[in-house]
Amino acid sequence: MEIAKTIADVRDCIKAARSEGEKIGLVPTMGALHKGHISLIERAVKDCEYVVVSIFVNPTQFVPGEDFEKYPRPIDDDLKICEEHAIDLVFNPEPEEMYGQENFTWVNVEKLTEPLCGQSRPGHFRGVTTVCAKLFNIVQPDVAYFGQKDAQQAIVIKRMVADLNSPVEIVVCPTVREADGLAISSRNQYLSEKQRKDATLIYKSLQKCQEMIDSGIADTKEITSEMRKILQQVPSIRIEYISIVNAENLQNLDQIAGRVLAAVAVKIGPARLIDNILVDLSKR
Ligand code: AMP
Repeated sequence: MEIAKTIADVRDCIKAARSEGEKIGLVPTMGALHKGHISLIERAVKDCEYVVVSIFVNPTQFVPGEDFEKYPRPIDDDLKICEEHAIDLVFNPEPEEMYGQENFTWVNVEKLTEPLCGQSRPGHFRGVTTVCAKLFNIVQPDVAYFGQKDAQQAIVIKRMVADLNSPVEIVVCPTVREADGLAISSRNQYLSEKQRKDATLIYKSLQKCQEMIDSGIADTKEITSEMRKILQQVPSIRIEYISIVNAENLQNLDQIAGRVLAAVAVKIGPARLIDNILVDLSKR
């Protein structure tokens, strides 16, 4: 496994694979790798002949006051995981390598970045799309892998690639959960034991949503109000949003129809946690 800190080294490392026509996969991450990331890595290794994992805590996607400084950076553990999964190249740049002294050029996907997490994290998606566009230009992968856990991010990246005619296929992998349903996240480690227990209500609220949809309830207000009741069972949870939207354009739905994304964002103690489910009624 090779480890590159510079863009020039990435290009150099990939040269041989590219000239041999190997299928190149990219898994962009911020590190602190867990089972969610590993599911993306395993899928990439299955699909591709040459796999790059980027580990970069991207400063531009953190809003002022967020956890950029204290975001976990266990690079030795991460490298070990990559090595164990037969990754070909890890790209682990410093912010200066990615952005130089000053960055004048930004990629901004309109509309899709306004609702949901866009409301409370202004500028977050601009940071995500800009860093992903840079990574796509640096690595020039055939395929890049993202998690359904960050549903809005995946939709925004797909749109960016389509709108910019980037020759990269975006594969979205299912959310990996703990045994009790909590979506795995690097930020779960911020939780105390009690908060960790309370956090299971996030997925419980989404399961309630699924049950209600399955039983034929179509009024989204009725569903979100039941979800709210579940999340309000503990005082530690502060609800940021509970939204039921069209999974294509992220517009709010009054009535359940078509491909539906039910998404939740909450704060528990120091952690901001998100989760979602996709329900496809078009197939029923
Ligand atoms: P992050 O390091 O948090 O930026 O995440 C890197 C990638 O891993 C993103 O595409 C995430 O959506 C994905 N990811 C994070 N957690 C999970 C999870 N529990 N299940 C599946 N994918 C995940």
